[in-house]
Amino acid sequence: MEKWQSEYRDSIKTHAALEEFFEAQFPKVDFPLLIPRKFATHIKKAGLDSPLANQFLPQVSENDLGGESDPIGDHNQSPLAQIVHRYENRILFFPTQVCPVICRYCFRKNELGTNDELFKANFEKVLEYLKQHSEINEIIFSGGDPLILSDERIEFYLNEFKKIPHIKFIRFHTRTPIILPSRITENFCKIIENFKKDFLQINFIIHVNHSQEFNEENKVALSLLHAHCSNLLSQSVLLKGVNNSKQALLKLIDELIKLNIRPYYLHHPDKVKGGLHFMLTLEEGRNLYATLRNHLPGWALPQYIIDIPGGEGKVSAYNPETYNFSGHLINRKGTKVPYI
Ligand SMILES: *Cc1c(COP(=O)(O)O)cnc(C)c1O
Ligand code: SF4
Repeated sequence: MEKWQSEYRDSIKTHAALEEFFEAQFPKVDFPLLIPRKFATHIKKAGLDSPLANQFLPQVSENDLGGESDPIGDHNQSPLAQIVHRYENRILFFPTQVCPVICRYCFRKNELGTNDELFKANFEKVLEYLKQHSEINEIIFSGGDPLILSDERIEFYLNEFKKIPHIKFIRFHTRTPIILPSRITENFCKIIENFKKDFLQINFIIHVNHSQEFNEENKVALSLLHAHCSNLLSQSVLLKGVNNSKQALLKLIDELIKLNIRPYYLHHPDKVKGGLHFMLTLEEGRNLYATLRNHLPGWALPQYIIDIPGGEGKVSAYNPETYNFSGHLINRKGTKVPYI
């Protein structure tokens, strides 16, 4: 077993272990707990009511019953269990439901798992689907978190995808370099580097929400990844109690730029069951975003986007043409969708 794998195995996973580690009391919640111990040390240092802690430590409001299990309607556009095909040329591919940590705000928190067996099955069907759909040129590894897979597994998937001539772009959406930086090994980087000749681009979208998430170890991991993979982008979720201030967002973006990570998306939060305490209104988000525009050049400004509930996809949350304050979004077909 590799070092990162044993670190991962040793994560805090129970209510009792959490209370023991943090020497504090936490409410019992219906959603699973998972925090690798090294990362938990950083949380402890930042303090139990810090923006860092708020993302990963359970709060009593998780037990509120409002919100949706599948807030962005992924299941409505899923031809196979491991795929969502919503946009013509690109698919989300779910090789796993496992993550390096469980974020309390996660929009997939109702479907996270600890077991991958389901996802290993029927991979032949995924290949068949891809071969039949020559309009698809990009595979987006999502999850769960794809970097929790072993090197062998990632190599296996990339080997299969490179045989399909219309697949030109590979993307990994991942939180692992931040949470479990030991996973970014020399060997992993070598594997990615070897596949660069087989695709036009291999991009990593790093999921990070607050500058407190950075530390010496994950900065090294990110620069290693940058050296081997060249394209790092970011995605962040706007979260009440975490990063809903101008200062927090500017500091985060400043860190991203220093690490050669290009700000890509700032997501408005989804109305997920168990995560409503992180919600803020679209008006609040737009006001914050307007102040960011005053401080940042276009190349450092992430796109502020929202997934229309029900599977209609992402639209700009800022553009006045796609949202008005009378309470609707306009979908990609130009139809108004109520949104309050
Ligand atoms: C977000 C998302 C993508 C990726 O969208 P980009 O705008 O290319 O980053 C692809 N497929 C689905 C279903 C998505 O939700
Ligand atoms: S890493 Fe992503 S998918 Fe996993 S729990 Fe966090 S937000 Fe959810």
